[in-house]
Amino acid sequence: MKMATVKIIGAGLAGAEAAWQCARRGVEVELFEMRPVRTTPAHQTGDFAELVCSNSLKSDSENTAPWLLKEEMRRAGSMLLEIARECAVPAGHALAVDRVTFAARVTEMISREPRMVVRREEVTSIDEGGITVVASGPLTSEALAGEIGRLSWAASSQQGTSAAEAALHVEAEIVALKRCETQALSAPDVSGGTTKRFSDKSKPSRAGVPAPHKP
Ligand SMILES: Cc1cc2nc3c(=O)[nH]c(=O)nc-3n(C[C@H](O)[C@H](O)[C@H](O)COP(=O)(O)OP(=O)(O)OC[C@H]3O[C@@H](n4cnc5c(N)ncnc54)[C@H](O)[C@@H]3O)c2cc1C
Repeated sequence: MKMATVKIIGAGLAGAEAAWQCARRGVEVELFEMRPVRTTPAHQTGDFAELVCSNSLKSDSENTAPWLLKEEMRRAGSMLLEIARECAVPAGHALAVDRVTFAARVTEMISREPRMVVRREEVTSIDEGGITVVASGPLTSEALAGEIGRLSWAASSQQGTSAAEAALHVEAEIVALKRCETQALSAPDVSGGTTKRFSDKSKPSRAGVPAPHKP
């Protein structure tokens, strides 16, 4: 029996890995990436798995949480980790990469996969009949964020969540995301990679975050 094609929205870190893992297991994949046709407030290239701020994949010291996560990914055959090791730059106890080479290598690996069709377009609606992996990240385009909000609202209202509760969840996520963004923008870059700082002009806005539902 032929398996259904899996649609993956976003070729960032999560989407690129998911697409590659599906394809390696014989599953046909349609990978949607809106860059460079439409960009986000933080990304600067059309490459897949572009790291938007720090070039560090965090600690490589045994028995730390970031190490454990990487070790689990390595044992699961992660493409990203293999490429990260190849593109590593000196960073003490952390695993840091040359972000340009890293993204270029991921893009090349994905482009070589015969079971993968890459579509450079913005996805604005989700086909509810098929299998779709939403990996559009924290800077999801506004139209898709609206669609995710619509589907989440439909699902949560079926489970008895009120519109007010749904709005509170969205607000909490926005606050958490803002905190994460502030920390990320003030974090020092790890030496060896390409240093990147946002000017006020390029500093990401909250354009990709869905507005809370009004009850
Ligand atoms: C400003 C900023 C700084 C950050 N700094 C750090 C950091 O220093 N360290 C860290 O660990 N994490 C950081 N993060 C979090 C970081 O984004 C994640 O760690 C990581 O990139 C998430 O991977 P992802 O695959 O989920 O999303 P992303 O890597 O963002 O990939 C999502 C992809 O989906 C695409 N996309 C979005 N909407 C659509 C659409 N409608 N149709 C098609 N494609 C679409 C985007 O173009 C993008 O390529 C930062 C985030 C932001 C916003």
